[in-house]
Amino acid sequence: MRDSKVLRISVTDRCDLRCVYCMPESGVTLVRPSDLLTYEEIETVARAAMTAGVRRLRVTGGEPLVRRGIETLVEKLARLNPDDLALTTNGLHLGEKAAALKAAGLRRVTVSLDTLRRDKFETITRRTGFDLILEGIEAAQRAGLSPVKINTVVIRGVNDDEVAEFVRFGERRGLEVRFIELMPTSGLNPECKELGAWRPALFVKGEEIRGKIVEAFGTLEAAPGADGVAKVYHLKSGARIGFITPISDPFCRGCERLRLSADGRLKICLFDKEGIDMKNALRARRAGVHEIAALIRGALKDKKKWERGSLDGLSSEMFKIGG
Ligand code: SAM
Repeated sequence: MRDSKVLRISVTDRCDLRCVYCMPESGVTLVRPSDLLTYEEIETVARAAMTAGVRRLRVTGGEPLVRRGIETLVEKLARLNPDDLALTTNGLHLGEKAAALKAAGLRRVTVSLDTLRRDKFETITRRTGFDLILEGIEAAQRAGLSPVKINTVVIRGVNDDEVAEFVRFGERRGLEVRFIELMPTSGLNPECKELGAWRPALFVKGEEIRGKIVEAFGTLEAAPGADGVAKVYHLKSGARIGFITPISDPFCRGCERLRLSADGRLKICLFDKEGIDMKNALRARRAGVHEIAALIRGALKDKKKWERGSLDGLSSEMFKIGG
């Protein structure tokens, strides 16, 4: 699966959590429902992307499970027969939806979870629901979505003391935990009451996390079959863990991701602020699969020459493009 192109489809910018680093508590302008791509329009873009050489699809958000009838979209995407069909979620609704998603053709899920302590969960996400997420993870495993991966953003002074606990959690439950470096997104602005603006003091380098794990669990062995952006290792127990290091060791060269934002813009990078307006192409120009595929081929060509520049250029509204 390594080195095959992936389209990450953000189906909504709405989310039922408000993680302090990701989405401001208030003052966010959300995409009007009529400006979201319909499932039929998303299917057209995905079909065109596959014509242009994309082999893998991932559904994300905002929170993809809050968009009504998400199983219908998964079914449409599964019919395109991609090499992989995955979904990234906060896990709150997985308990109710895992079996239906599996039946619709979803292969696997990644669940974002930054802490294993209920009180801290409520501080980080500004919402309740910790137990629902644990139930959701179990439901995903029961439904046969496999592998289930956990994304954990590590923040100094917030959850960097839980690294070993996360590793054990993954070992016990057969989950691949991936530790992610904190990026400067719009949740982290001076008005953020909990953390304030992004600053080096909050940031924990992937190397440091790795060091803690080696100290506690012994040497790590590089694992084959990683997806190009995560560096994945085996522990002695055989469990897999990963590191995603967009800040300390950007993975631009291995990156085969295209992103479709909630408002229908195709982006070649998290640093691509403009993107290509697919909604306009589909609605105003009535473009079909053939024309959309030509736009996507152009984007893939541009991606080869793309240089991401400084961190200031990062698209700060991660909840619109899905991380
Ligand atoms: N709602 C879904 C979820 O919770 O996974 C999908 C969207 S969420 C924006 C996707 C991923 O982006 C999550 O794993 C989240 O932790 C990550 N993310 C958001 N802001 C981030 C930041 N500033 N640095 C690193 N990762 C971030």
